[in-house]
Formats: sequence, C-alpha cells, structure tokens
Amino acid sequence: MNITVTRPFLPPLEEYQAYVKGIWDRGWLTNGGPLANTLELRLKEYLGVDHLLFVANGTVALQIAIKALDLRGEIITTPFSYVASTSSIVWEGCSPVMTDIRPDTLNIDPEKIEAAITGNTVAILAVHVFGNPCDTERIQDIAQKHGLRVIYDAAHAFGTTYRGRSLLSFGDVSTCSFHATKLFHTIEGGAVVCPDPDLLRRMALMRNFGHVTAEAFGEVGINGKNSEMHAAMGLCNLDHIESVIQARAGICEQYRARLQGVPAAFQAISGDTRYNHAYFPVIFNSEPILLKVLEHLRLHSVFPRRYFYPSLTTLPYVQGQAAPIAEDIARRILCLPLYVGLSTEEVDMICRLIKRAIRY
Ligand SMILES: *Cc1c(COP(=O)(O)O)cnc(C)c1O
Repeated sequence: MNITVTRPFLPPLEEYQAYVKGIWDRGWLTNGGPLANTLELRLKEYLGVDHLLFVANGTVALQIAIKALDLRGEIITTPFSYVASTSSIVWEGCSPVMTDIRPDTLNIDPEKIEAAITGNTVAILAVHVFGNPCDTERIQDIAQKHGLRVIYDAAHAFGTTYRGRSLLSFGDVSTCSFHATKLFHTIEGGAVVCPDPDLLRRMALMRNFGHVTAEAFGEVGINGKNSEMHAAMGLCNLDHIESVIQARAGICEQYRARLQGVPAAFQAISGDTRYNHAYFPVIFNSEPILLKVLEHLRLHSVFPRRYFYPSLTTLPYVQGQAAPIAEDIARRILCLPLYVGLSTEEVDMICRLIKRAIRY
C-alpha cells in the first residue's frame, strides 16, 4: 500500500454517526446550526480565545480577514507558504510584497520587514510555517511603529502554544484551516480568531452575506458559512486532538533519531513553544540529493511532498520579486509522511530508504 505524505485522521465511525443521527432528527443542515455553534464554543475553550468564527475554509478566512480590516495597498508577506496566503492578497485587490525568510525557522525574517515598508504598506501577513511560531514580538513592534495591521495565516498552527498561549491568539486576526490534510480538520473548514469584538462582529456579518436580519444587510458579504456535517467532524476530532498530537510527536522523534548523520537540516522550532508536530520537513543539502531521495522513495511507493515548492516568487502574478533564501530552501525541502497510524516499521523503512538513496 502507498505511504502518502498525510492521511486524514478519522474518528471512530460510531462517534460521527451519533452526531449525524442528531442532524437527521433536527433536519437542520447549515446556517448557524447547533453543532456549528457548539464547535465554536468548544474551540474557544480549547484554544483559550474569546472570539472565533467557524468558516467554510482557510482561504475564505484569509479573504474575510483582509476585507474586514479594509486593507488596500501593499501587504508584506512570505514567499515560503502555500499559494493561498498570497493568492488571497491578490484576490482582495492588494499587492503582495515578498519578504525573505529565515533559513532556520522558515518563517518571514523580521529583520527584512522594515526595509520592505513603503508609503503604501498597510499590513503584514505572516505564516507560522509548519506550525512554528513567527517572531510575534518583533512583528508586533514593527507593526506598531509603522501603523500596520497584522494577519497571521495560522493554517498549520492549531494545537501549538507559544509563550503559554495558543498561537492562534496573536495578531489583529489569525486564520486557520481545518482542511482534511491539516492536523485538526472538519473535512473542509477554517476559522478566524481575533481579540477585537467589533472586528469579529464585522467578520460574522461578512461570513453570512452581510445579513443583519432576514431583510437587512449591514455589510457586503460572502457565503463563508460551514455546515452541520462539517461541524460534527470537528466535534469528533476535537475529542482526539491530544492523542493525535502525541502520536505525531512520537513519529517525529523517531524520524529525528533515525536520520542522524544524513546531509540535511531540520526546522528550528522557536523557543517557549509547545509544538503541534503538524509536519516533518527535511532540508537536504542540495536539490540533487532531494531528487535522488524522492525517486528512491517513489520506487518503494512512498510519496512525500515538496512543501513548499516552488517559492511563491515564481507565481505568474508575482513578478520581479526575489527572495533567494526562500527560493533556495524551496528547492531542497521535503515533508516526510506523518499521520496517526504510520507505524514504527514504516518510519524505519522510510529512513533506511533515504539513507540508501543518498549513499548510492
Ligand atoms: C491549507 C492552507 C491554506 C488554505 O486553507 P484551505 O482550508 O485549504 O482553504 C492557507 N494557507 C496555508 C499556509 C495553508 O497550508
């Protein structure tokens, strides 16, 4: 059987069926149903945040955040991310300004942010890459000094705590993705988190077509809602989140031990962090080494992914912006298979294959 980079966590079927039975009994499928509301309450409790909205996906979360903050102009962001963090900026009519990353944490380099600020800069959209905290203090200081808003694309950050707080609690708005490939998922889904109740109210209107009442509209809105079936998956998965994180931590530890001596580096996790082990990236010393490894693993039905490749500076709608560190790392980085149920034997085999590929 193929070993893929990830496999969605599935709760025991009976647990999901119990929620589905309730949905059938009530006949209420979407539009702020009881399960969606319960999921929001339970997520706020788990994350220790005051305000959170469950939305259709992590991309709409980013779009609503940009729209609700009224951003128009340049947004400083990272080229080392999934395409959605940049495409959302462009989709909302703003211009992404690519700022290079740190080669150790893989996050946007705060030292390079100030040089990228112009008279048109309105915000910083940073990504906690693979769930590793950005330097939130430095970014906050820079934002304050220059009057900029801060959005964190926290798509990978669920379950990470930084300085004793959920990583989703930083910035003017944090967005999360609950896509099936993410650590915590609702099949499709996402969230916006923000400390400001007025901003949250605005985003809540935007999520639901701008409806204030059935017949009155307070904002231009979009359909950013999510359904009872998706909320049910979230409620089931939330019951298992701690054991999911623990299982992944064990696999990462095994990878790290078995890959000692391989010509590669691992991501440096920021200090004062309880890491969620969302991904296991390996940064090989060169692209030819990575390609050899990839080929050898494929031959044995193991399919890691080149996250994130290529650098977003190569997007056709991001012209003429260089980020040499991100471009170099993007060519050399591979995320290894990581999911609950990946066995000790399989991890051993993957590590053996990697070593063999490099040796020959
Ligand atoms: C997955 C992801 C998104 C998009 O989330 P969806 O729920 O798939 O729309 C945005 N940013 C990053 C960094 C992601 O990994």
